[in-house]
Amino acid sequence: MSSAPSGRARVLSATPRNIALLARCLRDGGLVAVPTETVYGLAACALQEPACRSIFAVKGRPLVDPLIVHVASMEMAEPLAVWNKTARTLAAAFWPGPLTLVLPSIDAVPGIVTAQRPTIAIRRPVHPAFQALIGRCAFPLAAPSANPFGYISPTTARHVLDSLGDRIPFILDGGPCALGLESTIVDVCVPENPMLLRPGAIPRQEIESCLKRPCPSSKPSDGSPPSAPGMMDRHYSPRVRLRLFPHGSAPAAARDPNDAVLLFSRPRDPITLSTPSMYWLTENGDLAEAGRSLFAILRKLDERDHAAVHIEEPPSDGLGEAILDRLRRAAAPEPGTV
Ligand code: AMP
Ligand code: MG
Repeated sequence: MSSAPSGRARVLSATPRNIALLARCLRDGGLVAVPTETVYGLAACALQEPACRSIFAVKGRPLVDPLIVHVASMEMAEPLAVWNKTARTLAAAFWPGPLTLVLPSIDAVPGIVTAQRPTIAIRRPVHPAFQALIGRCAFPLAAPSANPFGYISPTTARHVLDSLGDRIPFILDGGPCALGLESTIVDVCVPENPMLLRPGAIPRQEIESCLKRPCPSSKPSDGSPPSAPGMMDRHYSPRVRLRLFPHGSAPAAARDPNDAVLLFSRPRDPITLSTPSMYWLTENGDLAEAGRSLFAILRKLDERDHAAVHIEEPPSDGLGEAILDRLRRAAAPEPGTV
C-alpha cells in the first residue's frame, strides 16, 4: 500500500487485503477508480442510488449519459436484463472482454444508472484486478471512465490521480490499460437487428463475423437523442486545438512553429523524422499499439505548449474505426465556437 504523491486519493495495488478494503468502501457507498483492459473506470455499487449519483458529481457528467454496469460472471448479468439469443452469442464469444451489450432492462438498478432509459448496458471485463474486485463485492459495479466529463480517458493510475486525485478516496493500480480504447457497445434489444452504438476495442468486423449479419451504426433502439449517450460530438478532448488530416497525406503546409504533428506511424524518411515536435502513435503501423498509446499521447501533448496539433488519421479498417471516432470527437470544436 502506498500513499499518493499529490491529491488525496490513495493508490493501491491489487493485493487480496487491498481488494477486501476496496470492496468494503464500495459496499459502504464509496467510489473507487479501477483498472480495466479498456480505460480506467470510476466505480460505485450499481445498486445504490446515492453512490451512483456521486459518480456524476465527481466527473461533472450530465445525468442524461447512462453508466455501464460491470459484472464478474454471467450469473451476475442474467438478473439485470431480458436476454436473447444474439446477446448470449456475443457474450459467449467476447466475454470477459471489451464488449458492452445494451439490453432491455428489468429495473434491477436505480434509474440514475440507466439515465431513466428502458435499457441497460452490461459488460464483463477481463482485467484480473477488476474481476477480483467485482467478485469480492458480489454486486455489480457501475463505472464510466475515470476522467472529468469530456476530457481524455485515463489509461494509467497516474492519469486518474492527476485529474480526479483530489475528489476520490482510492485508485486501484492495475498497470497501464492493455487496450487503451473504450469498449465496443452493441445494442441487442432487437436480436435480428444488432446496432453498433460505439465503435471500440473489438472491431465491428469481429462482431459481424460472429453474428453472421451486419451490425450497422445507430442511435439507441429506444429512440433517445444521439447527443445523449457518450456520443456527444465533442468528447475525449484535450485543451490544445487538434486538426486531423487524411491518412498518408502531408500535414497542412503553413504551420505555426509552435504546432506539433502526430503521425500514425514512425516516418521512414530521416528528414521528416528530425522535424521538431513530431510524434507518432505506433512504431510500424500496428493499430493495436496505436489504440493503446492514443490517450496517453494526447495527454502528453496537452501538457506541452503547442498552439495546435496536426494529427494523421489512422487507416479505417479494424481498430482504425474506433481510433478515428475518438480523434474526430477529440478534435470537434467546443459548442459555441467555430
Ligand atoms: P462511458 O462509460 O463514458 O464509456 O460511456 C458509457 C456509454 O455507454 C454511454 O455514454 C452510452 O453511450 C452507453 N450506454 C450506457 N448505458 C446505456 C443504455 N442504457 N442505453 C444505451 N446506451 C447506453
Ligand atoms: Mg467516458
